[in-house]
Formats: sequence, structure tokens, C-alpha cells
Amino acid sequence: MRKPIIAGNWKMNKTLNEAMTFVEEVKNSIPSSDKVDSAVCAPALFIAPMLYGVKGTELKIGSQNVSNQDSGAYTGEISPVALKDLGVTYAIIGHSERREYYGETDEFINSKTKKAFEHGLTPILCCGETLEEREGGKFEEVIRTQLTADLAGLTDEQVKNLVIAYEPIWAIGTGKSATEKDAQDSCKFVRDVVESLYNETVAEAVRVQYGGSVKPENIKEYMAQPDIDGALVGGASLEPASFLALLEAV
Ligand code: 13P
Repeated sequence: MRKPIIAGNWKMNKTLNEAMTFVEEVKNSIPSSDKVDSAVCAPALFIAPMLYGVKGTELKIGSQNVSNQDSGAYTGEISPVALKDLGVTYAIIGHSERREYYGETDEFINSKTKKAFEHGLTPILCCGETLEEREGGKFEEVIRTQLTADLAGLTDEQVKNLVIAYEPIWAIGTGKSATEKDAQDSCKFVRDVVESLYNETVAEAVRVQYGGSVKPENIKEYMAQPDIDGALVGGASLEPASFLALLEAV
């Protein structure tokens, strides 16, 4: 039985004061981690203070990026060693915004994923297709190509512990969420690709999130789907009431 995982991706939003106010407002209302894993992937600047703020609660803090190197002359990068040392649990890797705006390739994403595992971080590995690719009938090819490269060289145990976020790019920040059937079919396809690359046991264990305009009003329909194990949520994770409503809907 896969445990649901709801993660907020704050992207480049909030000030320190806003981030800490959020923590204060949600920290006593986080559901038990026996039921659902809850996380906020915050801007790097706020990770350390937020970790202090959530101490003793079930809310985990994640990073939105992680370097493929341990340490050294890599200006502007975020060390996986430092993240682990702080107490960070998750690292988003390969978000479509990083692929599109910062030129991240599947090979680079693969190296970050391996590095995250090496240091005990759980990657939230993102994949997804553009509208043009979907309308051009290329969905399966795009997802298979991404996952084959992104997962290359990972062990069965690692992939069992991985979180894959399927995020159709056309649904991100647009308010145009995928229908629950499309989201289910796509997440099932992600699982099928994992099975073809690994085996059924690994595919049954890996958690697959849907992401793209998820909000309190539609999360229940997604969570009712057999192959959707959670959500990676942008806009609707920014406000305490909305974030808590997402967790409560699980
Ligand atoms: P929205 O929920 O704002 O559409 O963002 C989705 C996303 O990109 C999460 O990583």
C-alpha cells in the first residue's frame, strides 16, 4: 500500500516573514504521517528557519533543487550534503521550469537524482509533456524518453523510494487541470514505464504524484484514482488554509 504524499512547491514566492507566518499557521494542524506525508518545498533561503519552525511536527521541508556535486566551486548551487545536514527530506529535481528556463537536461537530472539518493534525500523527480507534444500524439514517447534517461543506473531500492511527479506542462499555473481520467491514465503510464525499466515490485512501490493546477476543489478526484499517490502543488500550496485543505482532503 503506497502512502499518499502531498507536497507544496512554493517556487520563487514569499519573503522570510511570510514563510514563517505560514509555518506558524499550519504547524499544529498537519495530519499524522501514518496517513499522509506532508511537505513544503521552499525557496532555499527559507529552508533553515522553516526547519526550526516545524521541529516536532509532521511537516517536512524540501528543496526545489539540489546540486549534482557534494561541495566545491559551484557558485549558486545547493549542496545535498548541506541539505541533509540541515534535516531536509525531499528535493524536487527536473521541474519543467528548470528544464525550460535553465536548460537542465535528462542527463543532468539523472546525476542530481543519484546524488540526492547518495546523501539520503528523497528526490521528487518531475516529468511531463508540453501541449504541443500531447496534441501531436507524442505523450508516451516524451515520458518514456525522460524517465529512461532520468532513472538510468538507479537501483531497484532507490526507485522504490522515489517520488515521481507527473506534471503536464500545459496544466502548470494555467488553471487548466487535467481531467482525473487523463491524470490517472498518464500516471499509470509513468508506472508502466517504471515496470518496463525495472519490474512489477518496483513499479508498485514507486509513488506517482499528479501536478498541475491542483487545488482543494479538485484534489479529491485525483486522489481517488488508483495510480495517483499524491500531488505536487504550486499556487494552492501558498496559503495556509488552502494547503491544510489539500492535506485534509486526502
Ligand atoms: P500549479 O499548482 O500552480 O499549477 O503548479 C504546479 C507545479 O508546477 C508544481 O510543481
